[in-house]
Amino acid sequence: MKGEISVQTQHIFPVIKRWLYSEKDIFLREIVSNAADAITKHKRLVALSQIESGGTVYRIDVKLNKKAKTITVSDNGIGMTEDELNKYINQIALSGALDFIQKYEGKNTNNGIIGHFGLGFYSSFMVSEKVEIITKSYIDAPAVHWTCGDEGTYETEAADRNEHGTDIIMHINDDERAYLDAVKLRNILDKYCAFMPIEIYFDDGEKKKKKDKDEDGEEATDNGKINDTNPLWLRQPADVKPEEYNEFYKKVFYDFRDPLFYIHINADYPLNFKGILFVPRQKNEFDSVENQVKLFYNQVFVADNIKEVIPEFLLNIKGVLDCPELPLNVSRSYLQTNTYVSKVSAHITKKVADKINGMFNTDRENFEKIWTDIAPFIEYACLRDKKFFDKLKDSLLFKTIDNKLVTLKEYTGDEKEATVYYASSTERQSYYINLYKKQGKQVLLLDRFIDNQFVSFLEQENNKIKFARIDSDLEAIGSETAENEKLTAIFKDVIAKEKTEIKIVHLKESNAPALINISEQSRRFNDMMKAYAANGMGDNNFDMPEEITVAVNLESSLIKKIEAVMDSDEAQAKKLAKQAYMIALISSRQLSADEMSEFIETTVDLLS
Ligand code: ADP
Repeated sequence: MKGEISVQTQHIFPVIKRWLYSEKDIFLREIVSNAADAITKHKRLVALSQIESGGTVYRIDVKLNKKAKTITVSDNGIGMTEDELNKYINQIALSGALDFIQKYEGKNTNNGIIGHFGLGFYSSFMVSEKVEIITKSYIDAPAVHWTCGDEGTYETEAADRNEHGTDIIMHINDDERAYLDAVKLRNILDKYCAFMPIEIYFDDGEKKKKKDKDEDGEEATDNGKINDTNPLWLRQPADVKPEEYNEFYKKVFYDFRDPLFYIHINADYPLNFKGILFVPRQKNEFDSVENQVKLFYNQVFVADNIKEVIPEFLLNIKGVLDCPELPLNVSRSYLQTNTYVSKVSAHITKKVADKINGMFNTDRENFEKIWTDIAPFIEYACLRDKKFFDKLKDSLLFKTIDNKLVTLKEYTGDEKEATVYYASSTERQSYYINLYKKQGKQVLLLDRFIDNQFVSFLEQENNKIKFARIDSDLEAIGSETAENEKLTAIFKDVIAKEKTEIKIVHLKESNAPALINISEQSRRFNDMMKAYAANGMGDNNFDMPEEITVAVNLESSLIKKIEAVMDSDEAQAKKLAKQAYMIALISSRQLSADEMSEFIETTVDLLS
């Protein structure tokens, strides 16, 4: 029998060929999923006892034949009778493909629709000049052989095939001969079919020597199974061992390190989706962070980068999601407003927060082990999403200068209003750290880029808590204000700087002649402007002097000496005062080149 596919369809083949240029690979996914569907249908009939199994071992075979320039996909599913073939392939599949093309032709398909589902069987013509179907139905009907060229005429004739099932033989056209490459095919199968529910075997057509030769030493083709028919995400979380999650992660995301933690989501109702999320190890705070979520539709890979399903602020999450209710063939902008997608996304946020709270509450020891790694990601997410922060705020940890991890509650104890003291560098601020230690005060170490912003955010969210860097609050370490006009005048004279105030204090148990006290707010503002400038967003020459107080310590032996000589030898008193100021500067920041030379000269002068 011969036929012309349909008049109105004359243009379908050239369109399919030009179509989806960058996504041609999907033809294999479409043909292999059809094969899997046909087998699933057969299985179901057997399960319903409508037919006998006949001992069928279900499998799909993908075979490359370079010489014949064909790719063949074979299944032992339900197959088709001639009537069915006529109906499903010549009519339904064709009109489906036509609808699809009419809907999307001329649109920018590359970033438009996701997955390119629905083109179906006719997607084989993206790469083929001729396609053959050899099929035999599971019911007692003769096998049929259908052949169709890319000009749109088909022929059917009798075929000899005894087992139920279907072979789709694609004759690859010359322009697409790249598909006759075993590595390329294998990669496409690995990408799209790695978790399909029916065993898939790939035969690259190369004869290989079997390890155990057949008796007569004949060569045999060595087929390899390429997929995992029961992916981890479909299993019950209780039945999966931690190592299995780690192995799965490493294999699927090409990482050599275990993830920090994982979350297995197995939602049935009201939201139907399953998946596993992983939080990977980051090399450093600025390691490229881009979430990578592999989206599946009933075990068939759809796309790699559907950012819409994962909240944008959960930056570095990786994972697999199987969303059987996801509308396919919709645009990305549609996904952004789709309620199912936003519910999935909200559910994921909740699960991540629950997991973190769970680890904090039940496994503090291990939680502390991963905290440093996950902190940047969590803090960023808190900054971006108030709800996420509200869920997590009691599980946030802060590092102390003694390398302990505490929550804010643990730091502040029962106090209603509290100041949290922190250092931003254990080296630069070591002098102050020691003063705080002497007083038995706990000091946090907030030395990361994000901390500045995070601290301001925490203050905003909780007005009972204030953060102060240890060089901003000398009262915390027992400094008491005193008075001495003459001494003040001498220091004013030698420092002579704008925005620098002199204050006379008693700092008990400390021999420090003077200490620099930098106002927290002005310093934070400065840091922020510097950060903007570093990111090219602000004035590069921004250099507003910080509001500084020089606290002169009457308890110090050097200050006592200045007091003793200031009436008789003002010049000497000034020299010493200048030196006391320089010492204060050194314990708070790096000296400039000029300051350093001056300091050295004066020191030498004083010592000789
Ligand atoms: P879809 O799979 O979305 O229905 P297709 O164009 O891919 O659309 O296929 C159309 C129909 O052809 C299928 O619904 C099925 O009935 C039939 N079909 C395709 N491939 C096979 C196969 N390997 N075995 C049995 N039937 C098939």
